Amino acid sequence: MAGKLKNCPECGKLFMDMGARICRDCMDREEELMLKVSSFVRDHPHSTIKEIVDGVEGVKERLVRRMIKEGRFVQDGFDVTYPCEKCGKMINHGRFCSKCDEELKKDVIKAQQKAVERAVQAVKEKRPMGTGFRSKDMGLKKQ
Ligand SMILES: [Zn+2]
Ligand SMILES: [Zn+2]
Repeated sequence: MAGKLKNCPECGKLFMDMGARICRDCMDREEELMLKVSSFVRDHPHSTIKEIVDGVEGVKERLVRRMIKEGRFVQDGFDVTYPCEKCGKMINHGRFCSKCDEELKKDVIKAQQKAVERAVQAVKEKRPMGTGFRSKDMGLKKQ
């Protein structure tokens, strides 16, 4: 299958896109950086993303974040910390800290409860309208 020629988003070089996000050179470099990050984290457990970026030459925060999202550190048994997307508390897995996670779950439950309450309310409101055929009858009488 022929690939599409496009500019590498990392280095700007033209390359044949065969489904990879970046060019071969950048991919090799990225792989190398990931290995460096992995060994850095192994040597410095409980590192923050910033400490990794500062500690590993040439690595970008974006790459470290992607590695975390891909679960590289967790899989390797590494403990890396990064801020919760909601409150900024340092965590080492998922997108949110356990507290925000709980709150988000509660929000979902609350939203579901509200939906149920609304449905119940709608049924309640319909009931008088159901007996409210009378209003129609009254309307008929008026005519
Ligand atoms: Zn490139
Ligand atoms: Zn949080």
